Amino acid sequence: MDQMTKKYVDGFMADLMGRNPGEKEFHQAVREVLESVAPYIMEHPYLLDQKILERIVEPERIIIFRVPWADDEGEIHVNRGYRVQCSSAIGPYKGGIRFHPSVNLSIMKFLAFEQTFKNSLTTLPMGAAKGGSDFNPKGKSDNEVMRFCQSFMTELHRHIGADTDVPAGDIGVGGREIGYMFGQYKRLRDEFTGVLTGKGLAWGGSPLRPEATGYGTCYFASAMLSTRGDSFSGKTVAISGSGNVAQFAAQKALQLGAKVVTMSDSNGYIYDPDGIDEEKLEYIMQLKNIFRGRIREYAEKYPSATYYPEERPWSVKCDIALPCATQNELDGNQARTLVANGCICVAEGANMPCTPEAIEVFQQAKLLYSPGKASNAGGVATSGLEMTQNSMRLKWTREEVDGHLKRIMTDIHEACVKYGTEKDGYVNYVKGANIAGFIKVAEAMMSQGLV
Ligand code: NDP
Repeated sequence: MDQMTKKYVDGFMADLMGRNPGEKEFHQAVREVLESVAPYIMEHPYLLDQKILERIVEPERIIIFRVPWADDEGEIHVNRGYRVQCSSAIGPYKGGIRFHPSVNLSIMKFLAFEQTFKNSLTTLPMGAAKGGSDFNPKGKSDNEVMRFCQSFMTELHRHIGADTDVPAGDIGVGGREIGYMFGQYKRLRDEFTGVLTGKGLAWGGSPLRPEATGYGTCYFASAMLSTRGDSFSGKTVAISGSGNVAQFAAQKALQLGAKVVTMSDSNGYIYDPDGIDEEKLEYIMQLKNIFRGRIREYAEKYPSATYYPEERPWSVKCDIALPCATQNELDGNQARTLVANGCICVAEGANMPCTPEAIEVFQQAKLLYSPGKASNAGGVATSGLEMTQNSMRLKWTREEVDGHLKRIMTDIHEACVKYGTEKDGYVNYVKGANIAGFIKVAEAMMSQGLV
């Protein structure tokens, strides 16, 4: 980066941090994008004059609201709800809802900001938003979760709509929560529209939506591996998380001929050197989705596995690592261990799971490394396909949706290669994804004037 560009980056970040104090995840996400796109912006001074990036980092609208609800004993609780509507430049706002005690404004803003570039990369007409609450669904009864979702939607419904803002799931929000929120929206608005994605198959959902983020992550990793004449076949894969993204990343990795040896939750990870096969994965899916149990129970059922409490799976020897749990779950030291252990490919299923230091380690070692905004975009892309089916009042087959998903992931990979290939031939997927995502949004903003 030349001196002038560096000065621009430093000045931009100083201003951003002054205007948004204490929002460390938001600062981290903006810095990563800024460092990639700043040279492009300097080469196109009209983007500077039009303050395109200054506009993108200021969400179009932020809604923060009270969510009161009563538990099964009648005790009253108050949580905080959020919707950050970041960009409507290329389509209606679109992005998931997260229910987790760690949710705060910084995390909502980082996710909405990342979503802007991710949704642009999908090639579909979707703007960007993110929402959620510091509500913790863990240990709550179905009735408590339903009452919370209804209270959350009682406020949120005013701000969303099939052509305005279309939320989906994320951490702590799966099919059950989407169902309760959709039911309340329908009741309040008296309309059956595609206002949420991730719906049940019988009431407007798309085939393959639950699988899409995990499958798409593996499709993207396959495309990266193929640039080196390699594939998943015969590889050992370490996965973090055991939720929606992790489960289907594991399933697709198995289908592609790999051996999956780890999965985790927020309490620890399991290592099964014999491999988590289809049958064992089915056990994990039931454990997590139906019984809402903990990953340590896997090691109690399968003696081939060991449970490591309070640890993450990155010390395990593997060829491919798929972080699929949460932000900043893989740091610089863990990245060095992965590299030392011979890992060749890291594809992010989660949003921003690798710290900036970890990314630097991977890039210096010339590993195949992809940021979540590229490799996990299959989830929101399939949400976009769900919106299309809802508008057409049609349902495609699983095969049709899978075909679209594969094509979209290949297109995203090509865009990253186009904008991210460096002089020595190494593909910097971070740079590629950020520039490709940025150009489309910037051009749309230029066309639409100062709004
Ligand atoms: P789920 O709630 O289904 O699963 C999350 C998993 O991550 C669980 O195993 C959870 O463990 C674990 N986890 C959550 N917080 C932490 C933490 N602080 N430390 C360690 N482990 C943690 O969420 P998803 O699978 O949907 O989402 C996972 C990631 O993928 C997130 O970053 C999300 O933003 C991203 N993503 C999801 C998409 C989707 O379609 N669902 C689309 C694109 C990105 P525990 O059970 O203990 O909480």
